[in-house]
Amino acid sequence: MNNAIDLTIKPQYIKNYRNGYPLISKDSIVDWSKVKDEGMIVHLLDDRKKFIAKGYYGQQNKGYGWVLSSKKEEKIDVSYFRNKIKAAIQYRKGYYNDNNTTAFRVFNGEGDGVGGLTIDYFDGFYLVTWYSLGIYAFREDILEALKSQVEYKGIYQKKRFDTKGQYLDDADDFVCGSRGEFPLIVKENGAKFAIYLDDGPMVGVFLDQREVRKTIRDSYAKGKTVLNTFSYTGAFSVFAALGGATKTTSVDLAKRSRSKTEEQFIINGIDPEAQDIIVEDVFHYFKYAVKKEILFDVVVLDPPSFARSKKHTFSVAKDYVKLLKEAIQITNRDGVIVASTNYANLNMGKFKEFIDKAFKELGGKYKIEDTFSLPKDFRVMEKFKEGDYLKVVFIRKVV
Ligand code: SAH
Repeated sequence: MNNAIDLTIKPQYIKNYRNGYPLISKDSIVDWSKVKDEGMIVHLLDDRKKFIAKGYYGQQNKGYGWVLSSKKEEKIDVSYFRNKIKAAIQYRKGYYNDNNTTAFRVFNGEGDGVGGLTIDYFDGFYLVTWYSLGIYAFREDILEALKSQVEYKGIYQKKRFDTKGQYLDDADDFVCGSRGEFPLIVKENGAKFAIYLDDGPMVGVFLDQREVRKTIRDSYAKGKTVLNTFSYTGAFSVFAALGGATKTTSVDLAKRSRSKTEEQFIINGIDPEAQDIIVEDVFHYFKYAVKKEILFDVVVLDPPSFARSKKHTFSVAKDYVKLLKEAIQITNRDGVIVASTNYANLNMGKFKEFIDKAFKELGGKYKIEDTFSLPKDFRVMEKFKEGDYLKVVFIRKVV
């Protein structure tokens, strides 16, 4: 078993950790030099060497590790992880019992007590994502704990940390049980998604937008033209089409997005020929649409936080206002823009300021009709607001 390393918290951060803040940030610790291997257990002490919390060392873009317990004697072992996973499953009972939704998040990092680890459910298969080498060091205990708590067809994994240039082949994604046959068809509020657990880092759908997709289908799509930008596999387009949209237009730069989007339409009984799927830079498409005066009733904006294409670099913090202004120009009067961002360093207040700025600069008027953050299965901690990264605003363009 690892011997714990004592780390001293800088005075200005002590109160935070006493209050249950979970992220061990680089800046908050005096003596990182004592720590060597990822996965080491660390004890966080105040300036009088009094124990505050224990956690593990694991580098992610967010920080250098996560608090696991405020009890000094608590062992971080199979039984520790079993208790966390058991509680997480209990919290999602409603999802397990819902036959119309067979894909959801079972374990959401620090929201369920263990930062750097997520577990998703896809119709009997489990996908474990490791966000650092540090959490990966607990792999055996975590997998044993998971296996003791669930019935599963198979378990897959994704490593979301730097493996020093080593290519992670797909064989590495399969952990145990039976191998799935992909695409695996899962359901979400009655609609279907084709999922690939063995084909790169993204599996085909972002589960955190579930309620937004349902809202588009049930309340915004009927009889409308819908533009879905940064469309990936066209999940928003599928829900819009199922909700009775007259036509959807999906725009994504990635070549694979065409076949992936066609596949999602087909499994939902929608003729892809009746929809537009455009493989192009969104910024280029906006210019074209403005020039041709093409207007849409609903425009979905869901860009990555950072993106680099041949001609553009885009960052939510710098460029979202500009993106909104382009969207506003090609939205019909009384139309709706669904503006979304998963950029953790931008809160809802600031995001709404972006929206206001974009409309003001164009002299337009708007009304906010709906807002969304993460769904219940993406459990977040009261003490860690940054974990609640999703912001979605339904904006009605009045003039
Ligand atoms: N909205 C999607 C998820 C978007 S993922 C959904 O709900 O499923 C981000 C997508 O943006 C990726 O598919 C990527 O290929 C695409 N992308 C990034 N930069 C782009 C650009 N400049 N133009 C078009 N697509 C872009």
